[in-house]
Amino acid sequence: MPQTLIPPGEPCLLSNFDPGHHEGLERAAAEEETRLHCTALDELAYRLFAEAKRAVVVVLQGIDGSGKDGAIRMLASGISPQCLDVKSFKSPSALELSHDFLWRVHAAVPAHGRIGIFNRSHYEDVVVVRVRKLVPKAIWRERYAQINAFEKLLRDGGLTVVKCFLHISKDEQRKRLADRLRDPAKQWKLGPSDLEDRRLWDDFTTAYEDAITHCNTPEAPWHIVPANHKWYRNLVVARLVRKTLEDLDPQFPPFDPALLAKLE
Ligand code: ADP
Repeated sequence: MPQTLIPPGEPCLLSNFDPGHHEGLERAAAEEETRLHCTALDELAYRLFAEAKRAVVVVLQGIDGSGKDGAIRMLASGISPQCLDVKSFKSPSALELSHDFLWRVHAAVPAHGRIGIFNRSHYEDVVVVRVRKLVPKAIWRERYAQINAFEKLLRDGGLTVVKCFLHISKDEQRKRLADRLRDPAKQWKLGPSDLEDRRLWDDFTTAYEDAITHCNTPEAPWHIVPANHKWYRNLVVARLVRKTLEDLDPQFPPFDPALLAKLE
């Protein structure tokens, strides 16, 4: 298992993490291990659902092409849809903009018993918003503390927040964007803003490093997931979510034997 965590109190420097890391594993072995984690996840998610007292949300962040959709497909292949909520956060609507930035996020938090996956999240409000200068610095700067308080509130309400930064290199992003440009089945995924964002790579990196540094709390730490190899990214995310659920150890509710007597 690679070290995906940043030691408490230390700043996040993404250049300290190798996006191509894969533990020396072969693809086939990694895919087989991922399948085993997915099978275990299904059972754990079912128990969380039955217990209905706690919830988990997996926050996926990363630059365009970092594999957020692929990681979601992998998790969704393991977890029954009855236990799963997937939410993608796009540019906020007029209604969303007329509320505080956490309003839409709070509304999408999974209910007790469920696992949520956030494809982008409130971290856009300190990353893209900063890079694209959508709000003044005085506003986004305050948001780190507001996010930490929000995540504490969620935790106190029984929600475990698992935060994954899918870390790819600039070269790997180029390859993936080039693939999308050439593949008729993927061209629709690309717009001019994605190519503009690539030109702002360094600004995005700084914004992510600051967001991760300021919001890397012991209770909701960031995991830097090596994501140049899609199969290794899936393995790391699957392991993390499985470990989170195993630590929660959800239990079936107690059975009332009096029910047996009622069966005619
Ligand atoms: P994706 O790239 O996630 O597959 P889209 O191409 O629709 O999906 O991109 C969603 C866009 O919405 C991204 O460019 C992202 O930066 C933007 N976005 C998400 N949240 C916010 C936000 N709070 N403020 C501004 N832009 C946002």
